[in-house]
Amino acid sequence: MTATAAVTVRVPAKVNVQLAVGGRRPDGFHDLANVFLAVGLYDHVTASPAPDLRITGEGRDIASVPLDPSNLAARAAVALAARHGIEPRVHLHIRKDIPVAGGMAGGSADAAGALVACDALWGLGTPREDLLAICAELGSDVPFSLAGGAALGEGRGEILTPLEVGGTFSWVFAAADGGLSTPAVYRECDRLRREQGGGDGIGDVPAPQADPRLLEALRAGDVHGLAAALANDLQAAALSLRPDLARTLRAGADAGALAALVSGSGPTCAFLVSDGETAAKVAHTLGPAARPALSPAPGATLLP
Ligand code: ATP
Repeated sequence: MTATAAVTVRVPAKVNVQLAVGGRRPDGFHDLANVFLAVGLYDHVTASPAPDLRITGEGRDIASVPLDPSNLAARAAVALAARHGIEPRVHLHIRKDIPVAGGMAGGSADAAGALVACDALWGLGTPREDLLAICAELGSDVPFSLAGGAALGEGRGEILTPLEVGGTFSWVFAAADGGLSTPAVYRECDRLRREQGGGDGIGDVPAPQADPRLLEALRAGDVHGLAAALANDLQAAALSLRPDLARTLRAGADAGALAALVSGSGPTCAFLVSDGETAAKVAHTLGPAARPALSPAPGATLLP
């Protein structure tokens, strides 16, 4: 054990610049080609010594976050302690800025943040590969929250290949009132596929593949190429459950965004813009729930 009083880790949100969803597997999951980009909207997780596991939080959406052992950050602390055969004696405090249930992997971010914070607090020095393995057990998006930058996620999204990004991309994110449940959006995607007569199983849907044009646009830092290639197979399902999002997407595009899409399972809408000035204009048009952010952002980072 170290004598550290408290450690704080900053951890980013993500947007899926491509989310290709395969057919439903027999285990209920879907194979994905998931191109993650970390964006500069951050949660902060502070770990400090405590007699047992305790979790608190602050931030606009904190009322919809369970501050109990079901919290993904608490589960991360328990998993790390179990790996080392110790008790999870820690107070975790989450400062939330990432929209909750917004399709930006806020819970996953907190899990990755808690892992890095507890590892430092308890002086464990867990190898990075072991941290990534714990992340994958906690959830499909958690390894990326630890890694940050940009990556292709395959399998359920947890098998990561880092991607090169040749520039900085400017975004606006419009949070929406109320969240969308990720499993409900996948179920709606399956339902729409059945309704359209194509079937929703592995044999019915083409195997998901990353779009080479999109990967090249990221590598080159080409914002127009990226705008042309943005794609989200869950968008139709998110819009089916939340038809009001179509209006938000249109308003951002009309205000000058190069492209607009639902972020992951939604309901947050993401707008790719050419520069900071347009970002400010789009954010102003969309109202107080809209926030500009840059990408790529670093993964879970221990703050000095
Ligand atoms: P993803 O983009 O990975 O699908 P999301 O951004 O849509 O996820 P989250 O913000 O991760 O969704 O929240 C999903 C649900 O998880 C919430 O409704 C909440 O009840 C639960 N949850 C558990 N722990 C957390 C946490 N630390 N932060 C936010 N939500 C949490």
